[in-house]
Amino acid sequence: MRVLVTGGTGFIGSHLCDALIAKGYYVICVDNNFTGTDDNVQHLCNEKQFKVIKHDVVEQLFLDNHIDQVYHLACPASPVHYQFNPIKTIKTNILGTMNMLGLARKHRARFLQASTSEVYGDPLEHPQKESYWGNVNCVGIRACYDEGKRVAETLCFDYHRAHGVDIRVVRIFNTYGPRMAANDGRVVSNFIVQALKGEPLTVYGDGSQTRSFCYVADLVEAMIAMMGQENCIGPVNLGNPCEFTVLELARKVIALTGSSSEIVHKDLPSDDPKQRRPDITLAQERLSWVPRVELEDGLTSTIAYFKTLKDFL
Ligand code: NAD
Ligand code: UDP
Repeated sequence: MRVLVTGGTGFIGSHLCDALIAKGYYVICVDNNFTGTDDNVQHLCNEKQFKVIKHDVVEQLFLDNHIDQVYHLACPASPVHYQFNPIKTIKTNILGTMNMLGLARKHRARFLQASTSEVYGDPLEHPQKESYWGNVNCVGIRACYDEGKRVAETLCFDYHRAHGVDIRVVRIFNTYGPRMAANDGRVVSNFIVQALKGEPLTVYGDGSQTRSFCYVADLVEAMIAMMGQENCIGPVNLGNPCEFTVLELARKVIALTGSSSEIVHKDLPSDDPKQRRPDITLAQERLSWVPRVELEDGLTSTIAYFKTLKDFL
């Protein structure tokens, strides 16, 4: 099996590369290292079955050898990074997804799109089922990502209907774990870095907004299961349905790090979703999958990883 992973030097992509190499697959990792880093796949570089190509998916990609599967993850995922150059984010989602779907079509490869819970926007239905069409502000600061990912899903289904591309679409809910960048800007890495440095934890708004946090190993298992199954092209929600307020998360991180940091409140960014929890009935039925890692255990592993990074302490 020859597999392309776009976004492969990023947080989730690098764990996916590990899991695919462990299955004995040949893995080609494509990334422009905007938010990813070769450090995340350094340990794979002596593998004969592993190759890294530095490439921006906004440009077409030509491969000499056949590929069987494409996992398409290339796109910054943290609001800080996807809002840094929003037009580039839209290009990555639209042109990048078209280019990778075109590549999959040419190679008759199965294509899995890493979509997101952000397609539900600030959801009015709770928990979110795949049948919910969402509540997205198309002119807000999150739209470059949310609408970009919505169009990317549309492209997948149109390439499927028009050209018979064999697609799988997963909607990923907040995922965390080792190899998140220290400067990623998302809540779990921010809180852990702040707690380890003894700095105040920055809770945006009053911290009553909720998220449901999935450990990366659980997510990768589900992505591979989705790619391998024959009966459902998606979209399928992937995430952990245990829901916490952001304030609860801050208190857990302080307790688990033993930090003396205090909590400070900052302005809530606009369009920040008030609640988010996946209904994972479909994933349970079709993939026989449920996430297994409890938040405390996943946070403990993630804290241990950040403690090994010397550069920010
Ligand atoms: P990440 O930022 O660590 O990884 C994204 C990777 O894509 C990085 O390595 C980055 O350099 C690469 N990339 C960005 N633009 C590119 C381009 N134009 N060409 C080539 N490479 C490019 O984030 P992540 O959390 O690992 O997210 C991976 C994927 O999963 C993203 O598509 C994201 O939207 C999706 N996702 C993640 C979460 C989450 O909670 N982690 C939730 C929903 C969806
Ligand atoms: N958040 C926070 N402090 C931070 C970073 C994020 O309170 O330092 C909040 C953010 O406002 C949001 C939640 O945590 O309500 C999750 O934010 P993140 O950027 O991780 O992901 P997303 O909003 O895309 O789910």
